[in-house]
Amino acid sequence: MKQTALERFLRYVKIDTQSKEDPTTYPSTAKQLELLNLLVTELKEIGAQDAAIDSYGYVTATVPSNLPPSHPKHGRVPAVGFVAHVDTSPSASGANVKPQVIDPYKGGDVVLPGDPSVVISESENPELKHNIGKPIVTSDGTTLLGADDKAGVAIIMAAAQTLLSDPSLLHGDIRIAFTPDEEIGQGTKYFDIKKFGAACAYTVDGDTPGELNKETFSANLAIITVNGRNIHPGSAKGIMVNSIRAMADIIARLPREISPEMTEGYEPYIHPHALEGEEAKSTLKILLRDFNTPGLDVLKKRIEHVIAEVQPLHPKATIELKIIEQYRNMKDYMGSTSTGLDCMWEATKRAGLDPIWVPIRGGTDGSRLTEKGLPTPNIFTGGQNYHGTTEWLSVWGMNKAVDTVVHIARLWVEKS
Ligand SMILES: [Zn+2]
Repeated sequence: MKQTALERFLRYVKIDTQSKEDPTTYPSTAKQLELLNLLVTELKEIGAQDAAIDSYGYVTATVPSNLPPSHPKHGRVPAVGFVAHVDTSPSASGANVKPQVIDPYKGGDVVLPGDPSVVISESENPELKHNIGKPIVTSDGTTLLGADDKAGVAIIMAAAQTLLSDPSLLHGDIRIAFTPDEEIGQGTKYFDIKKFGAACAYTVDGDTPGELNKETFSANLAIITVNGRNIHPGSAKGIMVNSIRAMADIIARLPREISPEMTEGYEPYIHPHALEGEEAKSTLKILLRDFNTPGLDVLKKRIEHVIAEVQPLHPKATIELKIIEQYRNMKDYMGSTSTGLDCMWEATKRAGLDPIWVPIRGGTDGSRLTEKGLPTPNIFTGGQNYHGTTEWLSVWGMNKAVDTVVHIARLWVEKS
């Protein structure tokens, strides 16, 4: 039975697959395995080969090349991969998701039935107007929807079924991967690129139809630790060193004009993200983001400058700065993958959209995969407003993504 991407999507979002920060297991939550195991079964049902789940939860499968031996490109088309993540963000509930299909969307604000204070407004959602007269999907307003990235999962499954069921659509080997724990930055931690065996891959994890991504932020985490000295406040005079006061002075001096709230496009930022503290010790995690990787050192220097300014105000406190590398702009490692990028651009056009390159102000599984040697740009899904209760999905956009994936597979035959 052929299932549309929408039918698959509506089933997948009802399975709670939320991942969890600071994991002690891999995947971080066992419930992700429910969907991952289901996908193995469904991949077998549609006729994919080698469908399997490994000990980490990675699901992989192959849509084998259907090029006849007489075809001039037979044996010459490299394997191409498509990747989507099954987990949803820890920032909003993903349990008991009740998707509603509004068909057709007639325009105007969308008030969600489970919590009327949650409104998908026309003014904040310019994409809505492209969906008037077409179906859209929302949650009931009490949970996220899970289009990030179950739309990607459904798109890859529907495209795989199309390729497997229509022998006139010629393609080389297509590899599929579904991964856990992307939302906590661990999606590719144990991913075996060699075993996957693709020359180029695509994550299907973007949003607006037509938008394609070959650039992401480069990212470091700065951790400032202030060590003070605690003692009972009643006898603290001249002895207590309150780390919170020093940390507050640091935070007050962090540049405001290069915050996420005040930047866009290619602009970098310094973003105080998580704060913990008591008198004896305070810790601040700061996200450093820049498309230009050497720019991360400039951001680090700005923090060092702030610390140098604050330290003399609190001579008895010790202030430490630690930098942890997170991910790198995939552009730095994309190398000679013009075929992969040409195919996605052309495929988007053949799907009837105007493609546009957009830099991602974040990272994807593809950032890590590209850095590790598997070039992995990203394509759209039709989803919007990820990680919150106003998340919604354009069904038209999702179907355009299915067409785009099928065209990418076929274009690799043309362009190899
Ligand atoms: Zn995602």
